Amino acid sequence: MTLPAPRFAFVEGALDRADALRDKPDALQAYWHDARVLVVDADGRTRADAAGALATPRGRTLADAAGEAAFLGAVFLGMRGDEAWFAIDDDRESAAAAPPAPFEARGAQDGRIDLRSAAAQWPAFEATVFAQARAVLHWRARHRHCGACGGPLRFLRGGWQGHCDACGLDHYPRTDPAVIVAVSDGERLLLGRQANWPPRRYSTLAGFVEPGETLEQTVAREVMEESGVRVRTSRYLASQPWPFPSSLMLGFVADAEPDPPRADQELEDVRWFSREDVGAALRGESGPDGLLLSPSISISRWLIEAWHAAAAR
Ligand SMILES: [Zn+2]
Repeated sequence: MTLPAPRFAFVEGALDRADALRDKPDALQAYWHDARVLVVDADGRTRADAAGALATPRGRTLADAAGEAAFLGAVFLGMRGDEAWFAIDDDRESAAAAPPAPFEARGAQDGRIDLRSAAAQWPAFEATVFAQARAVLHWRARHRHCGACGGPLRFLRGGWQGHCDACGLDHYPRTDPAVIVAVSDGERLLLGRQANWPPRRYSTLAGFVEPGETLEQTVAREVMEESGVRVRTSRYLASQPWPFPSSLMLGFVADAEPDPPRADQELEDVRWFSREDVGAALRGESGPDGLLLSPSISISRWLIEAWHAAAAR
């Protein structure tokens, strides 16, 4: 099956993570002066300029009175050409203390913008680097202490490794794998909705991988739990970082028995949709009572497009 191009967020334009530089703190500090820095607040928002675009202060402007405290708290994201990119927490300023917004970008408040809004508006590179910054800073903010002995962690390798001096353990950024799956019985597509979603919005089923499980087992288990439909086979297609706060979405298509779906506690409704209904929704021609699909920043919509394109043949 020929797949449509991966038109979803947080994939294109990734930085060169320049792993070797993580072991060279002197080189990183030399880059800091002119580096571009994403400042991310406790709510996962970063700074935006008056036009709503990404605002990245240079590293030198962020040094505090002691000179280098901002650099010591920074995570090295990587290189774009000769330009280094870093991320730091901005938990010193509360949203209430920030100056009022001089602009009206969608999703932006107080000169800051959240990742979902940024993904819908910004060029791919800016959204992808923001996703990386948000994910690694979220991990660091919640792993200040060793999970084994409770000792404080000291961050090494440009911020990508937390070392516990008390017991010697090293800790690394965590990513939580989850499957997301376009399930078909050969004719129809299985979609579900949560009670808190906008009316008529449906999406592909998804769930977290559990320890000791293969991805194919996760697909079959989650689809059974959420819909009662039996999966026969599944196949991996593509993945998407989904830092809300720390997931990696692993996109699958699955062939299933034409079982009657039944919603569980997690979903308000789950049902089979025809190729015609899905096609109309993808074209935005569903009509007043018709199906609505996920926004295009998500791999979910791309999986639905891939199924629809394959079903056309
Ligand atoms: Zn420890």
